[in-house]
Amino acid sequence: MLPEHEISRLSEEFETKTPLEIVQWAADTFWPEIAMSSSFQTQSMPLLHMVTHLKRAIPVFFIDTGYHFWETLMFREKIAAEWKFNVIDLYRDPRWDLFVRQNIRTLPLEDPNLCCYLHKVQPMQEALKDVKAWISGIRRDQTSNRAQASILELQDNGLLKINPLLNWTKADVQKYMEEHNLPKHPLYEKGYKSVGCAPCTVAIGANDDERAGRWAGKDKVECGLHTDMFHKKDIVDVQNQFKTDMTKVK
Ligand code: SF4
Repeated sequence: MLPEHEISRLSEEFETKTPLEIVQWAADTFWPEIAMSSSFQTQSMPLLHMVTHLKRAIPVFFIDTGYHFWETLMFREKIAAEWKFNVIDLYRDPRWDLFVRQNIRTLPLEDPNLCCYLHKVQPMQEALKDVKAWISGIRRDQTSNRAQASILELQDNGLLKINPLLNWTKADVQKYMEEHNLPKHPLYEKGYKSVGCAPCTVAIGANDDERAGRWAGKDKVECGLHTDMFHKKDIVDVQNQFKTDMTKVK
């Protein structure tokens, strides 16, 4: 891994580079110990499209929560096949299967932080143990939390998180989509500007904030992949963020 001061220096330097230049640097520097994550929604298309330009086939992690819209799963299949991606589906630890089955309808609505932790954070933590670098598609204009991010972020466990699109705006995404005639998620034109899991996503108006339809009406804007929840090592560390007392779950 690069020394910490070099990561800080490069992160500053990358503020003026294009996302494609950053992605190329990442692939050249970390191949084959590198992966990207994607939720295969409309905003994901530019970064996925850039990765198709690389000589190296970076694997794409897709978190299959079991709560996705059918349209998301079909769109993921179509893009993966047409753009020849090696998509690796990530699933929750089977040790939670009984608990989730018993609470399958209520869990996303009553304890979404726990649901996201079991279905998204833990599987991603596990998958990333096998790589040194992780390319993510977050942007500073999406949430106040993401506004604080850096292009290169060294995690406590030595993993380097790379955010090539951090400086892009919603308008930049739209411009790139139009310039390259990229396909949109099938629910986009129906008002789903940001698509997460079905129980936690609603359609929004044309002038609403891009992520307004995610956990609408709840005090939650992030799943935990891009917050401090991701740095916790186990469920006991994050217990105070859940409504369910996980210490009592057998
Ligand atoms: S987005 Fe909703 S359904 Fe999906 S993992 Fe999070 S809480 Fe569960």
